[in-house]
Amino acid sequence: MSEELRSFDQYIGGQWTPSSGGTMESVDPFTGQPWALIPDSSEGDVDAAVAAAREAFDSGPWPRLLPRQRAGHIHRLAELIERDAEQLAAIETRDNGKLLKEMRGQLAGLPTTYRYFAEWADKVHGEAIPTGKQGFIAWTLPEPVGVVLAITVWNSPLFSLTVKAAPALAAGCTVVVKPSEHTSASTLEFARLVEEAGFPAGVFNVVCGGPSVGEALTAHTGIDKVAFTGSTATGRRVAAAAAAHLAPSTLELGGKSANMIFEDADIEAAVNGVTAGIFAASGQTCVAGSRILVHESVYDEVVERVTERAGRIRLGNPTAPETEMGPVAYRQQHERILEYIEIGRSDGAAVITGGGPPEDGELKDGLFVAPTLLAEVEPSARIAQEEIFGPVGCVFPFADEEEALALANSTSFGLAAGIWTREVHRAHRLVPQLRAGTIWINAYRVLGYAVPYGGFGESGYGLEGGREGLGEFLVSKSVWLETSGETRDPFLLG
Ligand code: NAD
Repeated sequence: MSEELRSFDQYIGGQWTPSSGGTMESVDPFTGQPWALIPDSSEGDVDAAVAAAREAFDSGPWPRLLPRQRAGHIHRLAELIERDAEQLAAIETRDNGKLLKEMRGQLAGLPTTYRYFAEWADKVHGEAIPTGKQGFIAWTLPEPVGVVLAITVWNSPLFSLTVKAAPALAAGCTVVVKPSEHTSASTLEFARLVEEAGFPAGVFNVVCGGPSVGEALTAHTGIDKVAFTGSTATGRRVAAAAAAHLAPSTLELGGKSANMIFEDADIEAAVNGVTAGIFAASGQTCVAGSRILVHESVYDEVVERVTERAGRIRLGNPTAPETEMGPVAYRQQHERILEYIEIGRSDGAAVITGGGPPEDGELKDGLFVAPTLLAEVEPSARIAQEEIFGPVGCVFPFADEEEALALANSTSFGLAAGIWTREVHRAHRLVPQLRAGTIWINAYRVLGYAVPYGGFGESGYGLEGGREGLGEFLVSKSVWLETSGETRDPFLLG
């Protein structure tokens, strides 16, 4: 008997309403079956959500509350997330197929992120500036940027939302969220907690849908700032649409990050780091260490050990505690990854391990891809240059530091890099020369709420997390005060 679908409404101006645009199905990538119905918001819904957020910002209490009062709401929200973390994690796994233990880990971290930004609320202040002029003092006055549009992705839906919503709310902004059409349910369930925490109507709104809803929102003149996570191709469109009405944007985009292993590295730790970099989350992380650069003297050993580890990775039901890799999130993504592996083959790459769906017949209904390593890849080949967003790593040997650096910097992206070495001087030499927003030394795929995170080049611009992440939702006024009381010559500039 097929399961009854759960139905979700959209959340606009403090009200739960069905969309006049109808519904879309949310599909569980492990079973391949739909499990929920999500609103497909119409243009009217988009207008209503922006109008609600606009009113809440322009004349509602939220930006006018004492910062401590705003912090109080955000702290209450953090408590509710803690209470419902298990349920939210289960929804995310249901939608994106990532391991339940990973989604639990992410959810467990979110209350801390909300609390961290809540505590920033009453620490936002400007500064007095020596004006260099007689009879004037001046100071800056940071204010919330206004109505924020948050567009998020499917691989970590509530994490991606939190690094936008937590600082935006703490700053005094109001928010309209459009989650990914593949994983909208957790954001809608999260909106229930916002409601329960007592946020004023219109401060937080959720509309759902695909690219056309995203486009309508981004182009909306009622939006003051766009915070986007997604692919580089979409990021370009989002930035252009926002720029058309001069709304600034923050873009957290794709990557093709290099994980570099030097001859003096702790090889055991490095192999673990390579596995975490490209096979964890089935490679569906923006920081995936998808280019594995290995010094030629340890190349054979590293490749052999990573291959051995990849062969032992347990694929299966993402909710089972022993599973190490779940399915990929949705059908087109599955097809895209397999297509990239074929492109690699036809461009002459050697498949060291994996290379397609796993042979295990039990996994045939799910959208699985076997952990894949490709060698003998030209650095200019498509699989070495384009983001695959799946468990597919390319291995390259290098002869020296200079070659490693040139390879690492040889794509248009600049999101992350890993350096595995025991030589501190080498690490320090490399860091300033690497074009990457986050660099790990003897680690990979570690992120924290207080450490800003962003990219270079086609990986986007702007930062999420930390004090810098809060700054993305503030604008500063400069205020001048005349102190002499004298009448000045009106034809002489200050
Ligand atoms: P995507 O760009 O297709 O979609 C992202 C979001 O944008 C979705 O909500 C989607 O509905 C919306 N969207 C699509 N077209 C739009 C348009 N024209 N206007 C406005 N919104 C639109 O990305 P995806 O394939 O779903 O996600 C994977 C990508 O996200 C990868 O490239 C990955 O690297 C990137 N990512 C980046 C980070 C980061 O922090 N840098 C984190 C996670 C994922």
